[in-house]
This record gives sequence, structure tokens and C-alpha cells, in this order.
Amino acid sequence: MPRSVFVTGATRGIGLAVARALAADGDHVAVGYRSGEPPEDLFGVPCEVTDQSSVDAAFERIAAEQGPVEVLVANAGITRDTLLLRMDDKAFDEVLDTNLRGVFRTVRAAASGMLAARRGRIVLLSSALGFLGSPGQTNYAATKTALLGFARSLAWELGSRQITVNVVAPGIIDTDMTQALSERRMADTMRMTPLGRPGTVDEVAAAVRFLASEQASYITGAVLPVGGGIGMGL
Ligand code: NDP
Repeated sequence: MPRSVFVTGATRGIGLAVARALAADGDHVAVGYRSGEPPEDLFGVPCEVTDQSSVDAAFERIAAEQGPVEVLVANAGITRDTLLLRMDDKAFDEVLDTNLRGVFRTVRAAASGMLAARRGRIVLLSSALGFLGSPGQTNYAATKTALLGFARSLAWELGSRQITVNVVAPGIIDTDMTQALSERRMADTMRMTPLGRPGTVDEVAAAVRFLASEQASYITGAVLPVGGGIGMGL
């Protein structure tokens, strides 16, 4: 049976690869977008994760079109990098509002339908940098580590209904987000990566696909690193 899937921030990068992987499996996939046009071959739903009314409208539209969301991939995320002493409140707040509160808003909207159905899969996109620390990314790293506490608490709240909540922690993945990294920063990071190369969006999508699958029915509260070995053992 095709499942009703929602991927936030899925017009490009990791989100789009996840949406395509799940659609290829036969699921009904809604692609959240806030700017630009969603891909023509996928069902696009406007969803600005910093706006609760936009999130609620997206969930209503998805329920009407393909049924209540059974698989949520909370992917939308931003960076506003700078050293702490130069970081203004706006840069800090925007990252928190998108990466952490945005996840809270979308997961809360998804959870009631999943509880009623007594099934569901929730996958959150964290980052290896949250666990390693990263200069110039105090705001971003803080949100990505926070997702772990969020996921593990929620795993307890939803576990009795067989709803799983898991975290994927990518290392450096070749997307628009990492285009901004300087050559030196990229080289430094690759030295910390046993596989010695950036990952691809499809490699991240494969991990999300597994955690969202029936095969992962006894995995909850887990962190799955997809970072070519960066930070292993943490
Ligand atoms: P991209 O910058 O390529 O894409 C981010 C997506 O999120 C875009 O579709 C963007 O929409 C959307 N988005 C951003 N803010 C909002 C918002 N407020 N509401 C709705 N959608 C929003 O990022 P990646 O694909 O690289 O990253 C995806 C996720 O994976 C992020 O959470 C990121 O932190 C995480 N990650 C990425 C890594 C990497 O190396 N790339 C490493 C570790 C984690 P729009 O097009 O409108 O901007």
C-alpha cells in the first residue's frame, strides 16, 4: 500500500533526493516548498516551516490529496554562519526558528494523525557538525544537537503506538548548502573523513528511506550517521 509521505524543504538537495527515493518505491510523496517551483513530476505543497498557519495548511492539503501523513521527513534547514562575537540576534533566531521550531511545528502537526492511525515514521535531518562542533556555526550546531533530545523524548511519547522517531546525521554532502564552504574548510573536513570525499544526496536518501521503511520497525530514537566516517564513535 502506498503511504502518504511529506518531506519539508524538498525542492532541491537532500530533501528532493529523499522525495524521489520514496516516490520510486511507490509512496505518495508531497514535496514542501517555500520558494521557486516544485518539480513538475512531484506533488508540491507550499510549506514555510517558520509559519504555523502555513504548516497547518500544508497538512490539510496533503490529507485531502493523499491521506494523513504517515511518513514525515523534517528536512528543511538553513545556515547563517559567523563567529559568535559577530552573530546578531537575527542570525541566531532565524536558524533556531527554521531548524528547531520548524521541526517542532511540522512534527506536532504530523503526530496527531499518526497517533490515530497507530503507525508512523518520523525522520529528522540533523548533522555530524552538531556532534563535532564547528567554528562559525554555534547557532546551526546547537539546533542540530537539539534534534537528538527532541527525537528521543518523542520516541518515548509515541512508541506505544508503534510510531518511530529517528535522526539522520549527514557529514559533508554535496548540495547548495555546502557550496559556500571555503576550499580550505572543505580540505580540513575531508581530512577528518575516512572515506575522503563529500557524500551525495542519494547516499543520504538511502539512509532516510531505510529508517522510513517497514524493515526499520524496531528502530527508534537512533542516530544514523551518513558522513563517510566523520566523527565516528561520538
Ligand atoms: P539546501 O540548502 O540545499 O536545501 C534546503 C531546503 O530547505 C530548500 O528546499 C529550502 O527552500 C528549504 N528551506 C529552508 N528554510 C525553509 C523554511 N523556513 N521553510 C521551508 N523550507 C525551507 O540544504 P541541504 O539539502 O544541504 O540540507 C537539507 C537538510 O540536511 C538541512 O536540514 C541541513 O541542515 C541538513 N544537512 C545538510 C548537510 C550538507 O552537507 N548539505 C550536512 C548535514 C545536515 P528554499 O529553496 O526556498 O530555500
